[in-house]
Amino acid sequence: MITPKHDNYLVRATAFDGKVRALAVNSTEAVRELARLQSTAPAASAALGRVATAALLLGSTLKKESHLVTVQVRGGGPVGTVLASANGRGEVRALVGNPRPAVPEMVDGKLNVPGVVGSTGRLTVIKDLGLREPYNSTVELVSGEIGRDFAYYFARSEQIPSAVGLGVFVDATGQVEAAGGYIIQLLGGLSDDEVETIEREVAALPHPTTMIRAGETPEDILTRVFHGSFRVLENTPVRFHCPCTRDRAERALILLGPAEIDAIMAQQAQRGHSDVTCEFCGANYRFTLDQLAALKN
Ligand SMILES: [Zn+2]
Repeated sequence: MITPKHDNYLVRATAFDGKVRALAVNSTEAVRELARLQSTAPAASAALGRVATAALLLGSTLKKESHLVTVQVRGGGPVGTVLASANGRGEVRALVGNPRPAVPEMVDGKLNVPGVVGSTGRLTVIKDLGLREPYNSTVELVSGEIGRDFAYYFARSEQIPSAVGLGVFVDATGQVEAAGGYIIQLLGGLSDDEVETIEREVAALPHPTTMIRAGETPEDILTRVFHGSFRVLENTPVRFHCPCTRDRAERALILLGPAEIDAIMAQQAQRGHSDVTCEFCGANYRFTLDQLAALKN
């Protein structure tokens, strides 16, 4: 089953008179592209896709489209660091330290996400809100399965009780067939009965990719929880996008300083140029020795 491109969007909604925030996304195409760019094996694709999907969901809560959220998961497992950045326009990029860790891909019929991520590290959320200092918060990982780790992050760091579902389904050929997720947050002021109702409906939700593979939209997922009593605030297409440019590669080189640039020039004297490759998208920016020398001033 190939999900058409137009199905890939994120819904930001509210329910119970603003006392509940509800987010749901179909991120299939973006995650498929991330897995292709990072050449990930299935379990690493799932880890990458879950973190990227969480970043997209978090990105939709930013006040301005230009604001940026970066999620960093360091679980001590063989995949290394999983990192994803998303903005309020539904654009995401992500990478993994080791795309093909040597661990079993499946455990108990599930992609071995905790096995590649590890479960003894940290989850860090960095929000760049255009201020001098970015907002930065770190919690310990509780499972390495990502969804539960984010629920813990929201409870611990933002004091918001949240249900988080994140999923990536990889087909027999290793291609990402479905990806998506939801976050339901209780913002306060709900009665015990209301909380109980929401918790019951969320607990009854099928796995995110079960719903997406069955053709359900983000609105369909929210309908399962709120039975139509929710208000969509925003509907944003989501996609992979890397904002790297030659200018930024140049600035990164300048930041290294003259001594480091000299070292690169000495190293690359024979080839006559140095390549700066973007780790996120693979774009290559070539600098000749003359161009490098000019960056020292
Ligand atoms: Zn790039």
